[in-house]
Amino acid sequence: MAQALKWVAMHEVGHTLGLRHNFRSSADTPLEKLQDRTWAETNGIFSSVMEYPGLNLSPGGQPRGYVYNPGVGSYDRWAITYGYTPDAARAALVAREAALPGHAYGTDEDARGPGALDPDVNPYDLGSDPLAWGRGRAQLIADTWTRLPRHVMPTTRATPT
Ligand SMILES: [Zn+2]
Repeated sequence: MAQALKWVAMHEVGHTLGLRHNFRSSADTPLEKLQDRTWAETNGIFSSVMEYPGLNLSPGGQPRGYVYNPGVGSYDRWAITYGYTPDAARAALVAREAALPGHAYGTDEDARGPGALDPDVNPYDLGSDPLAWGRGRAQLIADTWTRLPRHVMPTTRATPT
């Protein structure tokens, strides 16, 4: 819950600073890096806190990463550097880094509506391969579904008196 609250705070501060949603930022992270805490601490699980991220739940038997970004992402640092650099020549140099890995961008209009066809621009997904991620989530749900009764139903019921 603390990670979720921190992400929401970073997201809303991002809006305050002028950033729009970035639903492509999850595609900046290779699928195999999602549970890599060192990667997440440097780049983010998604490269922008302006993403609407899926929960980064680890499949069973694998290392657990962060559920949400532990800090701002690489896109956030780059975009804020561009937007808040008072030197126009420096800003022009920063703008040339738009195509570098970790700077992916796609906003609301790219994710919703009739022209929103790019499979990398989605809210609530993670990783650079949305189909593989979706398959993994489906498997996680299927595995969890079979264990669910043990977690929500008592093994013995009290006899009514
Ligand atoms: Zn928002």
